[in-house]
Amino acid sequence: MKAEIFAIGTELLMGELSDTNGSWIASKLPPLGIQVDRIIGIGDDLEALTAAFKNGLGQVDFIFTTGGLGPTQDDLTREAIALAIGETATVQQEVVQKLQKYFESRGTPMPQANIKQANLVPSARFIDNPNGTAPGWWAEKYGTHIICMPGPPSEMHPMWNNEIQPKLQTLVNDEVTLTRNVKTIGMSESAIDEILDEYFGNENPYLGIYSKADGIHLRIIARASDQSSAMALIEPVESAITSRLGDYIWGYDDDTPALCVGRELIRRKMTIGIVDCCTGGFLSDNITQIPDSASFLKGSIIAPTPGFLHNLQLLNLNKELGPYLNPHFTQKVSENIIENLDTDFGIAIIGVLGPDELENTPVGQVHISISSHNQNKNVSLKLPPRRLQIKRRASNTALTELLKLIKQAN
Ligand code: ATP
Ligand code: MG
Repeated sequence: MKAEIFAIGTELLMGELSDTNGSWIASKLPPLGIQVDRIIGIGDDLEALTAAFKNGLGQVDFIFTTGGLGPTQDDLTREAIALAIGETATVQQEVVQKLQKYFESRGTPMPQANIKQANLVPSARFIDNPNGTAPGWWAEKYGTHIICMPGPPSEMHPMWNNEIQPKLQTLVNDEVTLTRNVKTIGMSESAIDEILDEYFGNENPYLGIYSKADGIHLRIIARASDQSSAMALIEPVESAITSRLGDYIWGYDDDTPALCVGRELIRRKMTIGIVDCCTGGFLSDNITQIPDSASFLKGSIIAPTPGFLHNLQLLNLNKELGPYLNPHFTQKVSENIIENLDTDFGIAIIGVLGPDELENTPVGQVHISISSHNQNKNVSLKLPPRRLQIKRRASNTALTELLKLIKQAN
């Protein structure tokens, strides 16, 4: 089964808005056995939209669209579909009443412009949108399903999950595609490529390798007639990866380093403290994305350079003055965190973010130390002199090293 995705809105073509809807929808389709032919951005232009629908009709099984369902004159998705399939839209009174109620509940009368959101062509039906005024459209013509969703992700995602995905499932149950992501850090892409050589280049199961900010990801994709046959294709590849990469693996599927760390700390009721002289709070920001992070993060000290640290009574580092940019000092800091913040783990990151070198140490040099009551792990990184990259890599390395130490702490 084939699909096209249209991201509709002139903002997308002006560079004012990035299309995240297209990739979000695309990520939902492989498990349903639907293959995306293309994702295109189209402006709020009746002619261009009509041409795009005409072009896809009868050629692909699905056209998914987001945007252009609002009440204003530049919201033209419905009009374009009506023109492309040669049907006339009429106002549906029950939807007008629904819209009137929606506005009443917000204490304002319904603007006349919103009536156009109650328009429907005979080949389409509405898709419920409890989070906004624009109902979706599901039209079927010439063997193609046209599925239109509102632009705001807060409306589009629940509409997909509650209304669209379940219906798609019943339409496309002849083939499933399963994916499994294995996430590693610490081994280079080329080394992994060599170790798993015989698994690359096959079509089913397919193995892809991707370099990301949190390491190297391996994605196994398998297609089969049912779930368990697809699992059976994935399983041998996954066990080869697990046995050959072992400790380099830190997570699976939607895991992030911070999520894994949070999960393990919460399970063990353990705590951490951070001293960050490198990522400007990026590490703490990552950790505090995790709900319940307050239950394990006891404190985070963010200093622009390590020279500030000896002023902090809390850390009790008075006698430990420089030099700072070395594993020895970094470890002293992580040990002091455990003692003075009373945590199970201390994380210290000391690095040179730039633009200038520090203590004759070049930009991109980072020392990370993770301490527990009976162990220390020190890692030094030499990164390219780009600020965001240094922050990301330092933060992800600290988290994945911490994860290893937590798991050893059992
Ligand atoms: P509305 O009723 O809000 O006008 P709509 O269906 O007409 O909804 P648009 O007007 O095209 O949608 O977009 C509304 C907002 O939705 C945009 O300002 C943007 O925040 C978000 N949005 C639209 N398209 C996308 C997209 N492809 N990716 C991410 N966000 C998007
Ligand atoms: Mg709009």
